[in-house]
Amino acid sequence: MDYVFLGGAGEVGGSCMLLSVSDRHYLFDCGIRVNRTGAESLPDLKLLKERVPTLDGIFVSHAHADHIGALPLAHAAFPKAPIYATEPTRHLGAVMLNNAVSLMESETDGSLFTQEAVEATLGKMRVFSVGSWHQLAEGIRVLFIRSGHILGAVCIYLETPDGTFFYSGDVSSFHQKTIDGLDTSLLRVSPDFMVCEGTYGDSVHPSRSVEEMNLAKSVAEVISDGGSVLIPSFALGRAQEIILILKQAMLNKVIPKFPVVTDGLVNSICSVYASMPEALGGKIQNYMKHAQQPLFFSEYIRAARMGEQEVILKEGVPKCIIASSGMLMGGASVTYAKGLCGDPKNAIFLSGYQDAESPGRRLQELESGDRLVFPDGVPSEVKCRVARFHLSAHSDQGQLVSFIKQVNPKSVALVHGEIDTLSQLRDKLMKAFPVLCPQNGQMLSATDNPVWLPPSTRERINRKIAVDFDVQITGNKMNLDISNLDADRWNDFCMGDHVATLKGEKLIIRKK
Ligand SMILES: [Zn+2]
Ligand SMILES: [Zn+2]
Repeated sequence: MDYVFLGGAGEVGGSCMLLSVSDRHYLFDCGIRVNRTGAESLPDLKLLKERVPTLDGIFVSHAHADHIGALPLAHAAFPKAPIYATEPTRHLGAVMLNNAVSLMESETDGSLFTQEAVEATLGKMRVFSVGSWHQLAEGIRVLFIRSGHILGAVCIYLETPDGTFFYSGDVSSFHQKTIDGLDTSLLRVSPDFMVCEGTYGDSVHPSRSVEEMNLAKSVAEVISDGGSVLIPSFALGRAQEIILILKQAMLNKVIPKFPVVTDGLVNSICSVYASMPEALGGKIQNYMKHAQQPLFFSEYIRAARMGEQEVILKEGVPKCIIASSGMLMGGASVTYAKGLCGDPKNAIFLSGYQDAESPGRRLQELESGDRLVFPDGVPSEVKCRVARFHLSAHSDQGQLVSFIKQVNPKSVALVHGEIDTLSQLRDKLMKAFPVLCPQNGQMLSATDNPVWLPPSTRERINRKIAVDFDVQITGNKMNLDISNLDADRWNDFCMGDHVATLKGEKLIIRKK
């Protein structure tokens, strides 16, 4: 089982991995770097084309741009390869990719792909349900496991005659307002190799419910003092959470009712969420059955109309605006930020991951009165209140460690995180697993052990790998595949006591 990351290793963005196993080649995700434009935003598709003559399939874990944004280019290079995704990912992917086409039309770097390319890509998508097996070819099958994170997001578990592979995608172990968390009932698969995200591999999230309450109360406070609040938000996932946090706090009378306006791509994504109630979390499905109003909108919460931004800024009514993009990289949130940041009565509340080079990160680090250069190159003086709320849709360090332990891989590669973050997560795992933090473009084999492990740890890990044997049972016969056993391993196995456990059709014999 060989693999190479074409993007997304040691970085958050451009997730794209090629896996070659059992004479087949599969691509896992094909995203862009959202903080870059043009060719710099893309995973290394040239290397992909050099490495393989054909692709047997493309798996898409979820519809965030860093996982799906370059998919039309992978499809153009390998038009015969089927694209496997969940139904919500297909719908959300259509919104995200069509939006990307309109954004690229206004960029100087030119368009990477066209509307027609998006249509062709969507036409090649095969929808797989979550939680059941799907046969891809003789001896090769795949299981999609709900990963939490956003609507339709999955972990992908691939079984082949030459090994098993688990791809985490983006994961949140905890329930959110819109969706339930990671489905832990299907995790115990002990794959030969696992790839896991580590966005927050170095941090501990504060209590979700406390943070949600802090946000609702802080917004209400600014508004009762006569100011307005902008919450720049990722359009897909985060914005829907924030709308429901404010809506429920108003309904439960924790905060007074005030106008909330949503703008940008947020609105189209809300429509997709509302159209797929069966994929939403249990609690919110219940609410939808009994509530006499739309999922997100109400008398107080409405979507901005086209071209209404200037009016909203000038009308002087204190309100909360939820607008994309989340890192102030462009879109409606930048227009509102420029309109609101000069008045100390107003506030900008950041709500998620801020890329090291993004205006959102710079805003977080400013002193009051400093100037912030927005993406259009024009500086503005920032006098408004700026705060950060932790409403991540990713598992934190402890949750990731427990997730990986549940999956129990023979080895794991950590990706989708800044390098320092991933190495801190690696330190937490290396006593239990061989852990690799690969680089983009590095050709690796799933059996490659990391060279930096101390000899004692490597010995322990090797022993753990070396003494597990799978025995296939057919009728009243047991077959032990000895092709992988060298004399040392066999000797090591023979000396010692053993326990045997029956798992499905496999008898696993383990040295005590
Ligand atoms: Zn994501
Ligand atoms: Zn991601």
